[in-house]
Amino acid sequence: MEKNISEAVKIIHSSKQIVAFTGAGISAESGIPPFRGENGIWNQYDSRSLEIDYFLSHSEASWKIIREIFYSHFQRAKPNPSHIFLAKLESQYNLHSIITQNIDNLHHMAGSTVIYEFHGNSSRLLCTKCQETISILEVSLKTLPPKCACGGLLKPDFIFFGEPIPHYAYSKSMEAASTCDLMIIIGTAGEVMPANQIPLVASANKAKIIEINLEKSLYTPRITDIFLQGKASEISIALSQKLNLQSS
Ligand code: NAD
Repeated sequence: MEKNISEAVKIIHSSKQIVAFTGAGISAESGIPPFRGENGIWNQYDSRSLEIDYFLSHSEASWKIIREIFYSHFQRAKPNPSHIFLAKLESQYNLHSIITQNIDNLHHMAGSTVIYEFHGNSSRLLCTKCQETISILEVSLKTLPPKCACGGLLKPDFIFFGEPIPHYAYSKSMEAASTCDLMIIIGTAGEVMPANQIPLVASANKAKIIEINLEKSLYTPRITDIFLQGKASEISIALSQKLNLQSS
């Protein structure tokens, strides 16, 4: 592992444009469980609440589950050393952007500024009628479903099953993946389409790939140059020390 960390540090030093690609695993140590796997959210809840057609026709029932999952677990979560590592890599090194599949707002909270939210962000609500967005902090979830001032139904501003990827995030992510010379993948199994194509685009454009995960992913045997196996926070702390990143 020590050898792999040193190799990763060398590559980070020599890279001109670094892009990070993150998944649910980076936030697991902030107390947010992944969707799938043994302790996954979909082992406890019915994922139908996040199907757009079901949500629109059963908004109160869907919102009860959404409130419990996304506005109890998620609202209490704080960035962990891995989110902070990426924020420092942006301010002190050549990290160009973060492409995240996560909707938990933790990269923003850690201080990163260029973040392409491939699946949206739970800290905003979107009106299904007038399309305005509003901060969750301005909305009471005591009475469900929450409504916009225009009377329209509010939904979390992340994509539900059956909805397209937001155009801006998609095009900026593809551009970043095509132009980076290093992609750091943290905490994703690479199973969710079309987000899982992003590292493949980077690799096809000759970017080096460093991957951090508890276990091998679909990427590891195909495109990964350096695999750092372990908890994202522990590996991030080791990399921060070797790179001499300063606390801000
Ligand atoms: P995923 O592939 O995004 O994440 C799970 C991966 O993280 C697995 O490969 C696992 O080995 C790894 N992992 C778990 N804990 C880790 C740790 N401490 N350190 C390093 N790696 C760790 O899969 P998913 O959970 O099925 O999520 C699917 C989609 O759901 C994601 O793309 C995301 O959009 C969304 N999601 C987001 C959040 C969030 O916003 N925090 C949480 C759950 C799911």
